Amino acid sequence: MKFENMNIIEPVLKALKDKNYTEPTSIQSKAIPIILNGKDVLGSAQTGTGKTAAFAIPIIQHIYNTGGKVKIKALIVTPTRELAIQIDDNIREYGKYTRVKHTVIFGGVKQGKQVDKLNSGVHILTATPGRLLDLINQGFIKLNELDIFVLDEADRMLDMGFIHDIRKIIKLLPYKRQSLFFSATMPRNIVELSSKILKNPVKIEVNPVSSTAETIQQYVYFTNKSTKKDLLLHILQNIENEQVLLFSRTKHGADKIARNLKKHKINSAAIHGDKAQNNRQKVLKQFKAGEIRVLVATDIAARGIDIQKLKYVINYDIPNVAEDYVHRIGRSGRAGEAGNSISLCEPEENIYIRDIEKLIKLKINVVNNHPFLQTDKPMTQAEKKEVEKEKQRRKQEFFANRKKKQGNSQTQNNRRRR
Ligand code: AMP
Repeated sequence: MKFENMNIIEPVLKALKDKNYTEPTSIQSKAIPIILNGKDVLGSAQTGTGKTAAFAIPIIQHIYNTGGKVKIKALIVTPTRELAIQIDDNIREYGKYTRVKHTVIFGGVKQGKQVDKLNSGVHILTATPGRLLDLINQGFIKLNELDIFVLDEADRMLDMGFIHDIRKIIKLLPYKRQSLFFSATMPRNIVELSSKILKNPVKIEVNPVSSTAETIQQYVYFTNKSTKKDLLLHILQNIENEQVLLFSRTKHGADKIARNLKKHKINSAAIHGDKAQNNRQKVLKQFKAGEIRVLVATDIAARGIDIQKLKYVINYDIPNVAEDYVHRIGRSGRAGEAGNSISLCEPEENIYIRDIEKLIKLKINVVNNHPFLQTDKPMTQAEKKEVEKEKQRRKQEFFANRKKKQGNSQTQNNRRRR
């Protein structure tokens, strides 16, 4: 299949050529014809598969073909600010030879410039849920002319406690519309949510979350907590000047790692939810421009980060939720590029590696020839029990945080109502 044979309009084909996209990815060849046909889509796909173009191209094309007054015709809701910005950037690129007007809104920054842009007229709006509802409530956004609604990364949306916001947004959409729903995983609550949004959707599945991109080489270094810092420096030395996206489970940990790397004259920065939005964007831009060698990120901040030709992802901590591992390493080896994932595993985390291997149905290559080998004896039954307990504790903490976040968004909404 070629883009030229997919009934894509000439200005978009030209923009795709500029981007050097030679052929559509799997999700693009499956989804574009269905979306152009006006059908609803339930897409099981994660970032890195070319999902953005799969929905952005038909949206741009719809607006190009229908013309008329500049009103919000398409709304894309996505969980993180970084992802929202990235989607809008892609729309700019794919639509650069059309007159389609688009913008992006997200929280954490003043609303003035976003409101000015909305007032100047927009066809395609990309938004995070909180700021969207806020600006709708203030009367800056009208959705009565909406033709296409996209809910992106639905599973993350629920993980981040946005379910109430999503329900509210759905109620504000016109009944007659086309809806596209994307999620990396499809647990029951996601399928239930999708049934409230979609009408007779066509199901499309690419790269389920339990399969890791074939182009990514995966390695694990078994080590100890006390030697992780030195092992990291050793690895960074071995891969010369390659850029690395490094994951840390906690924000505090991310700051600490970045500080230590700087101490060793390795250009690095941390990105996580406690950093100001402007700072997050600046750091991301610098990393994309190659000015920062190691970007240390937490899972949520890194969601959706798309760096062309990123060769290395390092897991400084092994995620206790196996799906997160797949999301993390999916940051490299995007759209067919070769990538490497390196995991640094301390004894308490050995069990997580086993969970991950079960999920991806693959053995991760163990690197044995390094100077910081794990010295602890194999875990006893009692230690295994301890680890299991810790796992349960973290799970409870995760759900408690989620509940808190849901509570917070409820309070915010109540405040807004008042
Ligand atoms: P996404 O899943 O939308 O985040 O896209 C992942 C990456 O793949 C982005 O860097 C896109 O620019 C790139 N990409 C999307 N479609 C294609 C294509 N047909 N050919 C090559 N690269 C693509």
